Amino acid sequence: MLKGIGASEGYGIGKVLIIEEHTLEYTPHTVSDVDAEQQRYRDAVAAFIEQTREQAAALRVSAGAKEAEIMEGHIGIINDPAMGTEIEKLIAGGTCAEAATEQMFDMFISIFSMTDDDMTRQRAADLKDIKTALLSILLGISEVKISDAPAGTVLVAKEVTPSMTAGINKENIVGIITETGSQTSHSAILARAMEIPAVLSVPNALSKLSSGEQVIVDGKLGEVITAPSAEVIADYTARRDAFLREKRELELYRGKPTASASGEQYELCCNIGSPKDAGKAIAADGEGVGLFRTEFLFMDRTSLPSEDEQFEAYKAAAQILKGKPLIIRTLDIGGDKEIPYLGLEKEENPFMGFRAIRYCLKNREMFLSQIKAILRASAFGDVRIMFPLITAVEELREGCALVEEAKGYLRASSIAFNEDIPVGVMTETAASGVIADLLAKEADFFSIGTNDLTGYTMACDRGNSDVGYLYSPFQPSVLRMIRRIIACGTAEGIPVGMCGEAAANPMMIPLLMSFGLTEFSVSAVSVLKVRKNINKWTKAEADAVAEKVMAMTTEKEVVDYLQSIV
Ligand code: PEP
Ligand code: MG
Repeated sequence: MLKGIGASEGYGIGKVLIIEEHTLEYTPHTVSDVDAEQQRYRDAVAAFIEQTREQAAALRVSAGAKEAEIMEGHIGIINDPAMGTEIEKLIAGGTCAEAATEQMFDMFISIFSMTDDDMTRQRAADLKDIKTALLSILLGISEVKISDAPAGTVLVAKEVTPSMTAGINKENIVGIITETGSQTSHSAILARAMEIPAVLSVPNALSKLSSGEQVIVDGKLGEVITAPSAEVIADYTARRDAFLREKRELELYRGKPTASASGEQYELCCNIGSPKDAGKAIAADGEGVGLFRTEFLFMDRTSLPSEDEQFEAYKAAAQILKGKPLIIRTLDIGGDKEIPYLGLEKEENPFMGFRAIRYCLKNREMFLSQIKAILRASAFGDVRIMFPLITAVEELREGCALVEEAKGYLRASSIAFNEDIPVGVMTETAASGVIADLLAKEADFFSIGTNDLTGYTMACDRGNSDVGYLYSPFQPSVLRMIRRIIACGTAEGIPVGMCGEAAANPMMIPLLMSFGLTEFSVSAVSVLKVRKNINKWTKAEADAVAEKVMAMTTEKEVVDYLQSIV
């Protein structure tokens, strides 16, 4: 078995086709007819543009508009006057077209490769792709025809370039293996867009595999199974069929309302960590954002982000969501979320310590700037504020007072915001569960954070394997907390959502439906699965399940029973 990075889910069973790199060898020489050589270069560029346009058109059909734009971007790069002028200057000095092209591209490639930024490094990969194509044209080497690959082909290459992908026929290519690339490389993006299972970054794949041999590509685990036995092939064929069947079934839920089998409606939102993720939430058919973790804005830097910087990020997410709800959680640092420049002191019990809302209320200026940024973004969509780790009513009141103070500043400066912005509580501590009746009188909404609620209710650290057996949202204590929080919210007429991982668990879903949860917030990849699972139960069936479960005494009983019915 060969190990790599699983970059596009699914299972591919087929025969290897090795795509060798071109040998682009030539003897650099001095040219005497400079005009003719410059013309040769321009002709090569024209041929490159024509070829790229054709490839982009093919890619538009096979992989979609966004992927085609990557190729069209190559035309923009080659048309960049800075590049062309410099190459022609080198030719004017007597350098042959091949050497001039190589020198210029290599210089830009080495500059772009040196950064830590994924996007800029990706530009270096684009330049390498263009260089190879241009040199191939200048040297008269014809491209490998991937489009002629027979059905059941697993492509193996150093990397899959956009120009190679353009030739891929989705019907025939069942898997992709590369020696380089990451989750965010073009190879990965293209493979996912074309729904071809892919394993990237397999060391020495080209020398370890040979054309014609049978392999299995497991794009989920990032594994390539070599020389599979008939039994293994049968096993993976069954997995592949089940995977494809589930995918087809899930697609039936795209664009559909989130409703139980008896017609009760629910909201199905996504958890995000950056404005870019808001786009993923929409693409995944999420109905809004139930949790925007704002920590990303504060991490991987050396000082606090300004109010404007935060405003731009929140506004960008609101604009992407076009009026769909966006619940922004204020800074939740401390515990497992460290930000070195804040200089938080080491604590004996960081999870129980000076963190989240506690830290923010004591660092008013910082907190006010975040609240102002959120309020300003509320002029651009259905933005709501949520406070993490609330354990006492005073914390909610103090937070709300700061929201009012921030509103005052904005009014004084005539800056637009939503006067009625909802302010909610993340119920994720045992205390907030116990006083949910009191909190519900003063909060506009609840969102249950089961990741922490489980830990704080069970007094157990999920990272500690010795007590891991206690960490389960199906513990009767945690289930009672969840039921209570929802009941208290319902009694006061406020919406209650869940943004912890448990919201996507098929075993938890009927319980939540029965308890009266109004909103599920899950990761983008789970949206259709959760919608399907909600749709599977009538309210009466969910009630019957919940009644049984809530009469049980141990976590094992609960899990055994739920496993048997989902
Ligand atoms: C939670 O605690 O359930 C939650 C969603 O928040 P986080 O995982 O960011 O602590
Ligand atoms: Mg939490």
